This record gives sequence, C-alpha cells and structure tokens, in this order.
Amino acid sequence: MIHEIFPHKFSNEFKVCAPRQDDYVIRYDGSKTLLKKQGDSYAIPRVCELLGAEGKDLESFKGHYLLNIDGAAFFLDDSSNKTAPEGYEFVGNRTFRTMSPVERLGGVTSVHIAHWECLNRFCGRCGCETTRSEKERAIVCPKCGNVVYPRISPVVIVAVRNGEKLLMAHNIDNPNPRLFLISGFVEVGESLEQAVHREVLEEAGLRVKNVRYFGSQPWPFSDSLIAGFTAELDGDDTIRMQEAELSEAMWVKREDIPEYETDVSISCCLIENFRRGFQLSES
Ligand SMILES: [Zn+2]
Repeated sequence: MIHEIFPHKFSNEFKVCAPRQDDYVIRYDGSKTLLKKQGDSYAIPRVCELLGAEGKDLESFKGHYLLNIDGAAFFLDDSSNKTAPEGYEFVGNRTFRTMSPVERLGGVTSVHIAHWECLNRFCGRCGCETTRSEKERAIVCPKCGNVVYPRISPVVIVAVRNGEKLLMAHNIDNPNPRLFLISGFVEVGESLEQAVHREVLEEAGLRVKNVRYFGSQPWPFSDSLIAGFTAELDGDDTIRMQEAELSEAMWVKREDIPEYETDVSISCCLIENFRRGFQLSES
C-alpha cells in the first residue's frame, strides 16, 4: 500500500527547520503541483533545481518544512510565485501515482498538507488572515484563537463476499475502468461499521453481516484515511445499483477476478486477498 515504503523511513513529525539544496520543493497553486519534466515522466524538483531554473539562491527561498523520507525533506514553497519555469509544468495529483514509492508518498502527502493550508488562509469564524502554528501542525487565527488541524476525511471500503463470489463495482467518477469495491465517506454521527452497512445498502441495495476490520491506509489523493473491511452477504443477493454513484455493480466469481497490483491501494489488497482464497471473515 502507498504508505508501506520499507526500508525507507517516512517521518511526519512537526518541526521548524531551514531548507537544504537537495531537499524537495512543492509549489502548489491550489489544485496542481509544479513538477519537473523528464522526458515522458515527471519528478519532484529539488530546491537547488527550482532555484537554478529561476536564477535564485538559497537565501531567497521562502518555504516551510512538511515531512521527510530518509532525511530528504519536503518543503512547501511559500512564495506567491505560481509560475512554471521552462522545463516545469503544473500537473494534477494522479501524476504522483507514476512515481517511485518514496516520491509518491512524500509528494502526495505534501500536497495534502498544502491543500489544507490553501483552504484555510482566512479564519472560518472571523475572517481574519490566519498563521501557521510554530508548535504543532495547525493553523491558528491570531484574532479569535480558532485552531484548524489538517483535514483527514474517513472513508470505508468493503469486500462483500457471497460464497465464492465478490461484490465488485465501478464508480462513475473513476477514470480507471477496472472494477473495485464499494466505498464511501463516513457520515457525521456514524461509526465505521455503520458506514459499511449504509454504503453497501445505498450503492448496491444489499445487506451485510459479519463486518470485520481488515486494515487502513492514508489516501492523500482525496485528503482521506481509508478503513478497509470484509463482510458477508446477508439475505437476498439481488443487486440494486445506485446509478448516481456507480456505472457497474456485480457479483464476480473468484476465478474470474484478474490479478490486482497491491503496491498502492487497500482496495486492491482486499480484492487480492479474496482472489487468492484467503479467509476474509468468519461466518
Ligand atoms: Zn478568527
């Protein structure tokens, strides 16, 4: 999964420190991130590379520390410069999917933080311009004291089993045409397990039992934390698909499920666990 980068070490403790030439730099324009073109692919620029492309020196760099992997820090560019020098381009989050595990995790997690900061430049309570806390990862309002922590939206995803078949679906918003699992954001006032029951009923018209926790992963692409579950069909197996959310929903026999790569998403790990015949949940 995306956060599993052993033997590399991801460090997300909050601290304040100065950038070095070979640290990574994230320039975020509110929806896209500046990346360096390398033929047909992209790389996250190092501080020295971006400064060199703009004819500047390290002393002129305005940015703050976000996190580091194996000691290489990721800094967010604080300047108001949202232009792309020659050889660079602003691209969407999906481009990080094409990178090495280290750049993918460091890059998209940095953008998660950058997006949160971007959305909270002004206090939601009093409208005053906010500042970053120097003690913790938080944004504070100097006028009314409002404190805003990073936005992490919980999501549930569930592998629903019906004997030797798995409930698979395709979300209308997903550009990847492959079938995945039922998932959705947790609503206010419900538990993760209640969200599983609700999502399966809403999206597929099915009831489930024996809901079991499988594992979790960060999903910075949607500012989320995803909790994975397994469950079993309870009762009628007739699928009544929610057409506003899904383009397909069906029971797929174990032997008809193709192999899924498990290096990025918990969705694929859940599917592979079923496909390989592991016992997902006890009845
Ligand atoms: Zn305020």
